[in-house]
Amino acid sequence: MNILVANLGSTSFKFRLFRFDGAGEASLLAKGGYERVTDYGSAIDDCLAELRAAGHVRSAADLHGVGFKTVLGKDLTGCVPADERVIAALEGFREIAPAHNPPYATGIQRFREKLPGVPLVALFETAFYQWVPEAASRYAVPETWYQAGVRRYGFHGASHKFVAERSAELLGRDDIAARVRSLYQAGPTPVKAGAKPLRVISCHLGGSSSVTGIRDGVAIGTSMGLSPQSGLPQNNRVGDLDSAAVPFVMKTLGLPLAEVERQMTKESGLLGLSGVSNDLRDILAAIQQGNARAQLALDVFVHSTRHWIGSFLTALNGCDALVFTAGIGENNPNLRAALCAELDQLGLVLDPAKNAALRTEGEISAAHSPVKVFVIPANEELVVARETLRCISSRN
Ligand code: ADP
Repeated sequence: MNILVANLGSTSFKFRLFRFDGAGEASLLAKGGYERVTDYGSAIDDCLAELRAAGHVRSAADLHGVGFKTVLGKDLTGCVPADERVIAALEGFREIAPAHNPPYATGIQRFREKLPGVPLVALFETAFYQWVPEAASRYAVPETWYQAGVRRYGFHGASHKFVAERSAELLGRDDIAARVRSLYQAGPTPVKAGAKPLRVISCHLGGSSSVTGIRDGVAIGTSMGLSPQSGLPQNNRVGDLDSAAVPFVMKTLGLPLAEVERQMTKESGLLGLSGVSNDLRDILAAIQQGNARAQLALDVFVHSTRHWIGSFLTALNGCDALVFTAGIGENNPNLRAALCAELDQLGLVLDPAKNAALRTEGEISAAHSPVKVFVIPANEELVVARETLRCISSRN
């Protein structure tokens, strides 16, 4: 089975082609992409021509499905056929995710026209949060705001779901890994009577970042809120902010709303704090040069991440595993050490040598640490491909 995963940006189209064998094991056959795309239709033609020339597919008939990592839909989530309903749901929330929703709405439309016989599947980034208790997803706003859609949705669902499944495997809990695998088709299935709850805190730290609490493979809460610019300070997006700040700067700095929005999404986060860059590597280099604002940006990021880890430690009554994933989480041992510092009273002790040496997936906690700490590399495209295949298979 060949599954294409399409990553659509406002002017870019990236793709990966996975082949699944009979046992469900995936191999990556091809990846590529185009920048400065003005017409997704011709980009799709180019992609198919590339795959044909490389001998991976002879025609669209050799594609068994296309998966899209859609972000946020109005009144719609999960892993679902990418049809009119998905396009309407993306359009319905274009104001909340203006950089993400319009390209997917247009791109999916083009794919439907170009590949009429090929099943298209949307995996919403919010899908993993469908079972979060209401108390953890509601804001204290008037009912009319809630009815309009103002609530905590959660993002990075593909990444955190992968962590939920993989950490369960690493902890020898195949029952929970299987529960995670079937989540979008079957919902949370019953757990084995008397089994110890499996409590995982997943930290996706990258260009954008979030922390999610997971019990028995199902999310119980997340740092992300209404939009992907909430929670931790993001690369150049603001993260959590007191709502009073917006009217305050409009009145005192004389900024129009559109400019406030631009500054909150383009000039805030790690960039705004450091004044150096939105890339943590540049910030670390500036810290080496003695830049105090760069140090502050790092300190705020660490503080905020620990704040959210703490939130899930109470919600879960402790944890069995703390997991780091994505660009920053996978590649920065010093940051991981800062995030795990002085948690021994909560049962978490890092092994500094393992932490420094790890290059791929693995455990970095001390042998005697009751809380395990893992690094699990993110592979969101693979998650989309797997879920696309499950969605198609469950409908056949
Ligand atoms: P995205 O969220 O855009 O998919 P990634 O998960 O690839 O991004 O993460 C990108 C971030 O990872 C960048 O901000 C970069 O600073 C950070 N990063 C990558 N490698 C390192 C490293 N060796 N040390 C610190 N940060 C790193």
